[in-house]
Amino acid sequence: MALTDLHGVGPKLADKMKALGVSQVTDLLFHLPSRYEDRTRIHPIGSCRPGQRVLIEGRVEHSTIVRGRRSMLVVILFDGTGRITLRFFHFRVYQKQQLAQGTQLRCFGEIRAGFKGLEMVHPSYSHLSRYGDEAIADRLTPVYPTAEGLGQKNWIKMTDQALALMRRGELELEELLPATLLGQLKLLPLADALDYIHRPPPNADVAALVLRDHPTQKRLALEELLAHNLSMQKLHRLQRVLKAPTMRPGGALEIDFMERLPFRLTGAQQRVAKEICHDLEHSKPMLRLVHGDVGSGKTVIAALAALRTSGNGYQTAVSAPTELLAEQHFRVFSEWLEPLGIKPVWLSGKVTGKRRTEALQRINQGAEVVIGTHALMQKGVEFSRLGLVIVDEQHRFGVDQRMDLLKKGSRGDQQAHQLIMTATPIPRTLAMTAYAGMDVSVIDELPPGRKPVTTVVMSNERRGEVIQRVANACADGQQAYWVCTLIEESDVIAAEAAEDVARDLGSALHGLNIGLIHGRLKPADKQRVMDEFKTGQIHLLVATTVIEVGVDVPNASLMIIENSERLGLAQLHQLRGRVGRGYKQASCVLMYNPPLGDLAKQRMEIMRQTADGFVIAEKDLQLRGPGEVLGTRQTGMLLFRVADLARDADLLKMIPAVADTLLTQHPEQADKLIRRWIGDASRFAGV
Ligand code: ADP
Ligand code: MG
Repeated sequence: MALTDLHGVGPKLADKMKALGVSQVTDLLFHLPSRYEDRTRIHPIGSCRPGQRVLIEGRVEHSTIVRGRRSMLVVILFDGTGRITLRFFHFRVYQKQQLAQGTQLRCFGEIRAGFKGLEMVHPSYSHLSRYGDEAIADRLTPVYPTAEGLGQKNWIKMTDQALALMRRGELELEELLPATLLGQLKLLPLADALDYIHRPPPNADVAALVLRDHPTQKRLALEELLAHNLSMQKLHRLQRVLKAPTMRPGGALEIDFMERLPFRLTGAQQRVAKEICHDLEHSKPMLRLVHGDVGSGKTVIAALAALRTSGNGYQTAVSAPTELLAEQHFRVFSEWLEPLGIKPVWLSGKVTGKRRTEALQRINQGAEVVIGTHALMQKGVEFSRLGLVIVDEQHRFGVDQRMDLLKKGSRGDQQAHQLIMTATPIPRTLAMTAYAGMDVSVIDELPPGRKPVTTVVMSNERRGEVIQRVANACADGQQAYWVCTLIEESDVIAAEAAEDVARDLGSALHGLNIGLIHGRLKPADKQRVMDEFKTGQIHLLVATTVIEVGVDVPNASLMIIENSERLGLAQLHQLRGRVGRGYKQASCVLMYNPPLGDLAKQRMEIMRQTADGFVIAEKDLQLRGPGEVLGTRQTGMLLFRVADLARDADLLKMIPAVADTLLTQHPEQADKLIRRWIGDASRFAGV
């Protein structure tokens, strides 16, 4: 049923809802409240305490507009047990009339301790008839995550209707979990769970609900995780029946490549390369995830696979999630492959005009290796013989984008091979959901000579010492990164902050050449800065977290991370991985703003103690309390509607078995689950 079928929902409102992922009436029911308000009881004003969010009723004793720098409407409410001041900073003149002396009001808001007793600022209010007998809510009032211009009243009206339709059985909202499973896990039926979550009874465990840890929500999380697992499995099953070009051993090209390489592959690299080459020799599409910690040397493996592919007359597409990382791949690949007569093509969104036309032409005419950002996946990019798709740091891409790129490699039942490379050490339980049905190779050995990065934790108050440390390191011929972090994800603000820091450091560190890099620089400028840092002209590089993935400058051996307590462990690990790539002993200074909370202390301690990405990832999952906001950015991969990979770790364990049962015994339910949670599964069919 379409949203516009509801009362009061026009095309304009429907559009706004769509932007939030709600396009059907049933979608409304899967958009869960983020918190609840208790409007089921009227609190005597005399018993209210600051901090409570409560419903009160009373009679207006006094109402006045106080003029000042900012005018304010002030209303005194009395209920026989006490008085409270209501303050309105934004108000219309008619409101003074509405709130005139003698009016009976019901208000909801947060109680604050004011100058002269209790206050409520901008309460929501409604008028009562003289008898005050208006009905009071008998369920908790949900508060929905929303967007600008879309008020809670809208949400309540819409969900009220949706819930009513559901109770009357007029929505297509089938129970998709098999009855045996429901019984076994003692799960509530779907409709009951949804009803409870949207309109909980007054005695509900609100704390659990807000943390999304209530059994009713767990039930939904289970469905969602299942849906993801099933969709990945289906996708991969579909692909496995397709054919892919067989890539025979490449001979001279590969031998030449290995001889020119300035290092020998580690044992782990050799093993993984062999696994990949073995896959490529078969006419089934390869579906392989290469897992290797930061600095383990995944790039060379990718290059080898690309060489094998071009030796067989097919094209390779290499895509990376950030411009910076893609550019770096382009440079490394060019350096390695050009001597062998292969000239990679570069394509990003910023390649426009004539250069774009040229790039597209070369791709279309069969250029052997194409490197770029998600621009590779867009319309108009036509490969003539795509044989291998390599996606680096795949957790940044959605499954959708991966599909788009893959489609470029399919002709009839022919399909390109796929190689996904990730440095996110994904705990096994997670991998089973996010990468269900893929083969996994692990590079579990770092290149020789690497010394673990020494990590120290220092308060901001010791900034002077940290700056001195940078001065000493640079005087000694080393190079350093200074990473500025911000809570805001805004590029503009991050860039400005980094500029400020660069300026301050510039005046503190005379004689050093300081570079600056952030997401707002033009590609050419970014490239120039990175080049100058690579060649040692820049001693200290001030950066935002754009350098988080993939950047490789072996001579850089010192990293300062400001406000490190704000970052998750996984991100800190990625950042720290930028140093310790050369032969010098590297160090990392984690600066923080005191005081440091307990959890933050534990995080820092883990960073000090271990450099093992897998250990860090496991600890990260353990430490992240439920409901913590670091969520998706931390594990950085799939965005879930209800599930949270850390909080629902207990569910993950049972997913594979349940998924199996569904696929073998109730395949049609599996399809419906995918459609419910992930959307139209038909888009997978084209692959
Ligand atoms: P990541 O796995 O993080 O992508 P890279 O492929 O960027 O790692 O490799 C990190 C650095 O290690 C690069 O400078 C690369 O040239 C170097 N490297 C890779 N393999 C080896 C090896 N077997 N021996 C020495 N250095 C290596
Ligand atoms: Mg890399």
